Amino acid sequence: MVGRLAPSPTGVLHLGNARTFLLAWLSARARGGSVLLRIEDIDGPRIKPGAQEQTIEDLRWLGLDWDGEVFRQSSRRVLYRAAAQRLVEQGLAYPCVCTRKEVDEAASAPHESEPEDGPVYAGTCRGRFASLDQARRETGREAALRFRVDVGRVPFEDGFRGPQEGRIRGDFVVQKRGGDPAYQLAVVVDDAAQAVTEVVRADDLLPSTPRQLLLYRALGLPEPLFVHVPLVVGVDGLRLAKRHGDTSLAHFRRQGVSAPDLVGYLAVLSGLRARRAPCTPRELLADFDLRRVPVQPVRGDDHALYGG
Ligand code: GLU
Repeated sequence: MVGRLAPSPTGVLHLGNARTFLLAWLSARARGGSVLLRIEDIDGPRIKPGAQEQTIEDLRWLGLDWDGEVFRQSSRRVLYRAAAQRLVEQGLAYPCVCTRKEVDEAASAPHESEPEDGPVYAGTCRGRFASLDQARRETGREAALRFRVDVGRVPFEDGFRGPQEGRIRGDFVVQKRGGDPAYQLAVVVDDAAQAVTEVVRADDLLPSTPRQLLLYRALGLPEPLFVHVPLVVGVDGLRLAKRHGDTSLAHFRRQGVSAPDLVGYLAVLSGLRARRAPCTPRELLADFDLRRVPVQPVRGDDHALYGG
């Protein structure tokens, strides 16, 4: 059993990511599994310089550990290109010269804009170009690569939420213009190469899973179990954002909140403890059970943390 923590270094770890990483770590470690750390440092354009070190420090501070070296996507570009090339050779992906905005928006982990609501790609470039070179010659534009989707649904079993319909809409980008992989492809290539068997992440990424499953199948790679846990939201029930104040771990630290205070608080939010008391992630292992995590989004009240 191999789990993973896959932060994009887009800023600082906040209450929500900390909770997700804690659950991912507990789920693997509680069954004696290993945990990998992969820094998704090409999941742009939200990447911030210096955020990698901060993310690693925050995870350590929380009391989470991982096995072996830290993986960085920026050093694995050759692998992503090879996978994209394989898809093209199989006729499953094709060059696409549609607008930069559309391609870029489609290419990073879609936390903010739910693809369910986004426009479906009209298939404009399907069958138009035989290669990236031809696309460039004919249009004078750099091309991205798009994966052909010929199904409407990819049903799957989620380890937390049970059977999912797995709706999927339209051809999606697997390689951005310029050659960097889209999030959807990078995450599949990495999880497979690192023999990850369980992907625990927040359920705002649930709409990405059917696309990732199609890529596993197209590339002939073994699929992990997907486990989507609910988001931590603000007291108003909305996605954690600036309006909820500073919920970064660094901020709590400055306010004198200790890591065991924070973990104890996350344990209550996650249904793992009935009452607030400082504890370490390791202390939560003995009776950890994912089924105790509430199915509804949980409301994080940062003020509750200062009360002690
Ligand atoms: N790196 C992605 C993010 O933090 C998550 C990737 C994943 O868990 O699949 O947005």
